[in-house]
Amino acid sequence: MSFFSLQRTRPESFSYIGRKGFGPVKIAMAILVIGLFIGAIGEPDGNSVSALTSPNLPVDKIESKPQSTAEKPLDLTLATAIVETADLDHTLHKENIPDEKKRVLTVRNGDTLMSIMLSTGIVRDEAYYAISALRTLYDPKDLRVGQRIHITLSSDDKLRGMMLGPSVFRQIFVRRNKAGSFRAFETERKLTRKITFARGTISSSLYKSAVREEVPPSVLAELVRIYSWDVDFQREIQKGDGFEVAYEKLIDGLGDEVQHGEVIFARMVLSGVSKPLYRFEVRPGKIEYFDRAGRSAKRPLLRTPIDGARLSSRYGKRRHPVLGYTKMHRGVDFAAPPGTPIYAAGDGIVSFRGRKGAFGKYIRIRHAGGFSSAYAHMSRYKKGVALGTRVKQGEIIGFVGSTGRSTGPHLHYEILTGGRQVNPLTIKMPSGVKLDQKDLIRFQVKRAKIANLITELQRTTTITRR
Ligand SMILES: [Zn+2]
Repeated sequence: MSFFSLQRTRPESFSYIGRKGFGPVKIAMAILVIGLFIGAIGEPDGNSVSALTSPNLPVDKIESKPQSTAEKPLDLTLATAIVETADLDHTLHKENIPDEKKRVLTVRNGDTLMSIMLSTGIVRDEAYYAISALRTLYDPKDLRVGQRIHITLSSDDKLRGMMLGPSVFRQIFVRRNKAGSFRAFETERKLTRKITFARGTISSSLYKSAVREEVPPSVLAELVRIYSWDVDFQREIQKGDGFEVAYEKLIDGLGDEVQHGEVIFARMVLSGVSKPLYRFEVRPGKIEYFDRAGRSAKRPLLRTPIDGARLSSRYGKRRHPVLGYTKMHRGVDFAAPPGTPIYAAGDGIVSFRGRKGAFGKYIRIRHAGGFSSAYAHMSRYKKGVALGTRVKQGEIIGFVGSTGRSTGPHLHYEILTGGRQVNPLTIKMPSGVKLDQKDLIRFQVKRAKIANLITELQRTTTITRR
């Protein structure tokens, strides 16, 4: 394999923050599935939905955030998947029963469905019968922490019904029928895709600025990931730099945010240089980020082989948090909390793993093209990473520590060629692979659509707080 043509899909290990196994492929598949179902599936029982949901619950909770949202579909495939929630809400308003009480409960550690139901004042017998009905479709043992349960009670605390969504696309209802017994049924969940946009100016760290603008951790992790080939997050982030990110949210008919989807656009402005990236699906399931000219953000080696969002850097330390690259010190250091995962900078084979004098716990990886990368002062190695192990770019190989001669927890990172260290700060990294002509034409169309959407979002978004 050529050093210049690394083609691989995203490793799971890359996105360890907040991404709960819901990769782009699954989103794409799921959206496709909804697309197929739309129109074919109505509510099997409109009354029951209205009996269980409150018009007060939903949508504006999301809209009230300082970020702006837009519902513009970006392409036709996705457009077919979008169902406006307005119709459903309308039905709910019309058929809402005034003497009902709605409760939305979030599953916490140690909860059972029974304990949750009892906590709302439902008597044990009723809870028992409702759970028995539910069991025909769903095992309550499968409840996850964080899952939400919608419960509807009459004014005298009798259970009318409940609803839970065991997966992004499935909703299960239990409803009391006229005879007083409970029955369960399920529906496909209708999801609306919203584009959310955030931007911020970095005043102390990227992490803090992103939190201030309410960028979810999973989105921040993705933002950092897609720039990790190009940006040294320890040395290149300066006060006054900026970021923009547009990402998808999937919202169900109750206004619950189901999932943060993909980042569709990002821009980092570093020392006045603007670096926009656009999401593009090169082939089904193969999603990458490209600059305006259609060059992939991917490079053979990462500049930041660690989760850049967790770097404990303060801005402005261009040279080094610990030492930086000098004649004596032939590498760059990333100061990060102990235990922060360290990623393989590129695809390769582990050529050394063990203690190495002042370097402490040390791993070296041999890549194509005569390059190697090295990682020192680890607290521990990732299980299964040993001499001769084949690793993928972005795969976790170990964790930040302070072993060997080290003044504090940090990753010491070296790039070597011909067995000699080269300066990772100045090494000429080959630029990303450019799309071929056919894909480039498709990309330019897609990019123009994203750019239009972003222009609109930029107009309506202000940075609200300092
Ligand atoms: Zn060092």
